[in-house]
Amino acid sequence: MPDIAFDQWQLMYEQYFQDTFGSPRLCLEKGEGCYLWDSEGNKYLDMLAGIAVNALGYAHPAIVHAIEKQAEKLTHVSNYFTTPAQISLGRTLTRIFENSGYSYVKSFLCNSGTEANEAALKLARLFKPGGIILALDHSFHGRTMGALAATGKETIREPFEPLPAGVEFCAATREDLQRACARLGDRLGAIICEPIQGEAGVIPLEAGFLSDARDYADRAGALLIIDEVQTGMGRTGQWLASASGVDPVKADVITLAKGLGAGVPIGAMVVCSPQADVFSPGLHGTTFGGNPLACAVSNAGLGEIEKLLPHVRSVSSALIEGLTSRGYRVRGRGLLLGVEVENAPHIVSQLLKKGVIANAPRENTVRLAPPLIITHEQVEEFLHVWDHLGEEKERGLHV
Ligand SMILES: *Cc1c(COP(=O)(O)O)cnc(C)c1O
Repeated sequence: MPDIAFDQWQLMYEQYFQDTFGSPRLCLEKGEGCYLWDSEGNKYLDMLAGIAVNALGYAHPAIVHAIEKQAEKLTHVSNYFTTPAQISLGRTLTRIFENSGYSYVKSFLCNSGTEANEAALKLARLFKPGGIILALDHSFHGRTMGALAATGKETIREPFEPLPAGVEFCAATREDLQRACARLGDRLGAIICEPIQGEAGVIPLEAGFLSDARDYADRAGALLIIDEVQTGMGRTGQWLASASGVDPVKADVITLAKGLGAGVPIGAMVVCSPQADVFSPGLHGTTFGGNPLACAVSNAGLGEIEKLLPHVRSVSSALIEGLTSRGYRVRGRGLLLGVEVENAPHIVSQLLKKGVIANAPRENTVRLAPPLIITHEQVEEFLHVWDHLGEEKERGLHV
């Protein structure tokens, strides 16, 4: 079977595709549970889950079944029509939000995280024309022009300026938020933030930040938009990171994607306060968003995730305990963790050589975001590999 060597795959990739992601490190052929196999038959323990996407790992029976069953009926209609699959997902999302304390829940379905944030930013414009959108330094909201305008990483934003205007940034601290909101006064139109900044290196917001943001938004008649694209739908051991933890708040808008589809592309912009429900026909739309295939898979995935939430908290504790007892500092919650090391890219490539997939969102952080189905045995398996990185790991040891 492995008659095409990896460097051949790599050459073909470089021939056929633009260089947006750098050269691929593996050509992956199949997966099962938390494991992946590359084109040469090597097996990997997946501690990244396609960047917090594959909540149920690979080839999960419930997902395979949902894809087959829905593909036999309909994969796409148009948004002139609805489908039972779409209604089922809408009902599930509303129920999940109600269980998290919301009473008004209406979704707009799209295909990705950046699209969910585009929808939220357009909604904010409509809600308060001329209002300034306040975003955070080091934030990540996506790569399209609108979401990029609210993304606080200069290296990815600046080459594409001018971007949509009316966005300002402040540091992700209560102090700086207070200053920025005082300066903007009634000009504040919306605050957009992630409960844990994933792409910045798994950096949780300071305790009290979200409640402050809620207060300032209320005082200025502005929206609080919480980007739970990475943290939402069970990743932190709760449905929503912002509705749980030390500083639970209610947002006006929550954006979702990544784990929402258990491996199929889908996003959602969920309006969760009546005053924020300002779209009317013709103002926003999508061709593919809300298609029955993605909806059926997402709905099946959420049904499985619901049963896994206590498990996520329990394996998370074991993973955090395993790493902290070895002297590492760990940030994040549930199965979205950042481990502090000295040379994360090096550790990540050492892990890959030993059959473990992770990534380095920044120089001093290894991100772990495994499938939510990861078992205690697989956590042990990971820690065993971590312990045997040898000399490389010693050099990476931070504390
Ligand atoms: C990944 C991510 C996005 C962008 O999602 P895409 O599906 O890549 O467009 C937006 N916000 C956050 C917090 C993310 O982690």
